[in-house]
Amino acid sequence: MSAFVALVALELASAGTAGPLAVGPLTARPGEAVSGYLEVPDAGDPGARIPVTVVNGREPGPVLALVAGTHGYEYTSVLALPRVRERLSPARMKGAVILVHLANPPAFFERRIYRNADGKNLNRVYPGEADGTQTERIAFVLTREVIDRATHLVDMHCGDGNESLRPYTYWQVTGDPALDGAGKEMALAFGLDHVVIDRERPRDPGRSVYTSNTAAVRGKPAITVESGGMGLTDEASVRAQEAGALSLIAHLGIQEFPSVRVDRPLFIDRSEVLTAPATGVWRWAVEKMQSVAEGTLVGRVHDPFGAVLAEVRAPFAGEVLYVVATPPVTEGEPVAFIGRIVEEGAAEAR
Ligand SMILES: [Zn+2]
Repeated sequence: MSAFVALVALELASAGTAGPLAVGPLTARPGEAVSGYLEVPDAGDPGARIPVTVVNGREPGPVLALVAGTHGYEYTSVLALPRVRERLSPARMKGAVILVHLANPPAFFERRIYRNADGKNLNRVYPGEADGTQTERIAFVLTREVIDRATHLVDMHCGDGNESLRPYTYWQVTGDPALDGAGKEMALAFGLDHVVIDRERPRDPGRSVYTSNTAAVRGKPAITVESGGMGLTDEASVRAQEAGALSLIAHLGIQEFPSVRVDRPLFIDRSEVLTAPATGVWRWAVEKMQSVAEGTLVGRVHDPFGAVLAEVRAPFAGEVLYVVATPPVTEGEPVAFIGRIVEEGAAEAR
């Protein structure tokens, strides 16, 4: 680590609060935990009440935001955060944790995949708009009240209700060595052994698009994690979210917990979301975690009578990170995510 990187890391680490931490209408004094709601006002369409817990340590340190439930049919993080909350002891903490228990309540209660009733995907509209539609107003409140208050962020996802997914973390590479180094350490601390290297996130703070990227363009190390999918609530997937969050809290020096840090990460340096070439009935031909060669059949889109409309094949050799494993597909929407694994040395050299 260079002196420059060490200095920046120190500044990031000491950026937390020693006094009260206010998140929307909630204020947690040092040594205190408070829960309540962020209000997203009704406008042309209904607003939302976002449940949040603010746990403020007695001593200053990093402020970690854990954001669950951005997509309405993704349940593992929503079930993990109350467990994390229970383990936090503000009297012993150095720094703070902001737990967003349900970032997108309308999508959750309406059981929506991908998009809200306004047709927008919460993880595509950041930093949001104060006078926009429902999804944009939710993003605006989360940017202002959560992301702007935090020093570090984890956006916690799983495969959506139709996605059969193997666990992995997105590590975004911005070109800023301090930010990228801190983000990589967060990714390893979270404990999921597949790490997707993401170099494609926009750099404009006014069009940051994604939750974690909204933190990154504001100079805050951030990762996106994926564990679970298909609308399931299996213990292994929930436990991975819980254990990863606690391990990361320990990594940041906020409170001691067992580490689940990855010793032998598998970095994915090339990845591609494959999309449906036609609207129809999807019959997938691969499973999550399966290795595929270039040209392997991933699945076929059929018309309702059974005739083949289109085929999807792997564009390069790799592993299936997720595959849509329910029949409905719409042209242009994802059907699978393929990644190519490299060794750590190769990832470092880039
Ligand atoms: Zn998601």
